[in-house]
Amino acid sequence: MGYKLPVNSRRVVIVGSGFAGFCLARSLDRLLASSAKSPLEVTLISPSAAASLSPLLPGVLSGWVEPWQMRLPLREALRRVRWMVGRAVHVDPEARRVSFDGPGVQTGCDPASLPFDDLVFACGTATDHQGVRGAQERCLPFRSLDDALRIRNRVSEVLEAASGEDSSRRRRALCTLVIVGSDPRACSAALELARRFRLVAPMFPRLEPGDPHVVLVSPEPQLCAAWGPDGSRFAKAQLDRAGVEVRSEARIESVADDHVVVVTPNGSERLDARTVVWTPSSAPSLCVARWSAAPLEQGRLRVDELLRVSGADCLYAIGDSAAGPASGLAAPCSPARAARNAGWLAAALFDRACGRTPRSIVGKPWIDPVLLDRDHGLAMVGARCIDGRAGAWLSRRLMIRHMPGLRRRAAVRVAWTLVCHVPSAENDPSRLQPAHQTLYLTPPPAPVTGGD
Ligand SMILES: Cc1cc2nc3c(=O)[nH]c(=O)nc-3n(C[C@H](O)[C@H](O)[C@H](O)COP(=O)(O)OP(=O)(O)OC[C@H]3O[C@@H](n4cnc5c(N)ncnc54)[C@H](O)[C@@H]3O)c2cc1C
Repeated sequence: MGYKLPVNSRRVVIVGSGFAGFCLARSLDRLLASSAKSPLEVTLISPSAAASLSPLLPGVLSGWVEPWQMRLPLREALRRVRWMVGRAVHVDPEARRVSFDGPGVQTGCDPASLPFDDLVFACGTATDHQGVRGAQERCLPFRSLDDALRIRNRVSEVLEAASGEDSSRRRRALCTLVIVGSDPRACSAALELARRFRLVAPMFPRLEPGDPHVVLVSPEPQLCAAWGPDGSRFAKAQLDRAGVEVRSEARIESVADDHVVVVTPNGSERLDARTVVWTPSSAPSLCVARWSAAPLEQGRLRVDELLRVSGADCLYAIGDSAAGPASGLAAPCSPARAARNAGWLAAALFDRACGRTPRSIVGKPWIDPVLLDRDHGLAMVGARCIDGRAGAWLSRRLMIRHMPGLRRRAAVRVAWTLVCHVPSAENDPSRLQPAHQTLYLTPPPAPVTGGD
């Protein structure tokens, strides 16, 4: 059963409801609300009924971000854009159909395949274990809220286990967390996990001060390289201050149950650690990987200055899915770039549906902040990199701006003001205990049956 369209409406499908997909859907929702006609019929394919503000996920690790603050119910946020829960598994640009798989649809749509005139990939990238032995089976991924809660709970578990351990070597191995990656996601995860250790460790008096230990294994010589030498220096200084041990230009050779082998320019070494968090994600997302003609650069789709996927005039990509002049492959996509491109693309799709020529949308936002931890961030303002509290404040502001609803924005603002400025709010026992994972876990995706 196909779905009925107003005559002459262009059908736009958005794949993915991360920060980029959500911003695009919201912008289109607003444009549709402001228009008397309905020139577009927009459908968002989302793995769950809530969008995720993924830049806030590291905050979930330490507890200053609560899951409700970064999960945005689509029902609350979208009025004119329809959404369906599922995962796109195959895109056929010739037939202009996308197949998807999932528990169901919101309204009477074809559950297996959806026609489109324009399709936007906003599905990010997938974790890439780079063929490292043992990585896929043993490393914890860090992509979603479920992953963040699992890692947060693991910290509590290892501390419990270590506090009952007499051998100092085994204790330290239990309490050593290894994070792999060099971008803001990896640095933030390391900083927030170090903060969680600091907050929770006093509850475990049998642990020695040096036992809880975070190691960042960075394949690149510079951390957060896209934020320039100043940004890299600042990120490294924050990690040093937080007591995170940084191994630069290092790669993981293998991951075993109780250790990892790290290769650095000085040789290889064995690091006793039971928990490894793997962040590098340069593999294409499932539906992109299944499109054999996809023009890929490190798992992202190459786009032109109109965010059109090279060689396919009905396909677009934004956010982490896109590589090219508008997103800047050398600089990984940032939340501000994702939001800006989403706004521009919404206007371009709308213009095109109304018969107007879309404007060129290449360019970077003037202010480009990223959050490193609760109190520290980096912000490119023009060509200058501002770091510290100003960077963090700008990042938090950007996130709040994109949340739906006055009441939600006000509640988040109050909660973050408290947690940032009132020390006892951070030591609130409800933040320190393991997360109630089952409340937030989304069901595992159903086995993929559609597609090619
Ligand atoms: C865990 C994590 C932590 C991060 N931390 C930081 C940080 O601290 N600082 C920073 O600046 N940036 C961070 N980022 C990066 C930042 O969030 C992104 O650069 C930016 O928000 C753009 O994201 P996106 O929407 O393109 O991709 P994502 O946020 O990865 O969202 C992609 C969405 O698409 C969905 N999806 C994937 N495949 C399919 C499919 N086949 N069908 C339907 N849906 C699909 C995914 O489930 C996901 O919800 C982080 C990203 C992640 C994932």
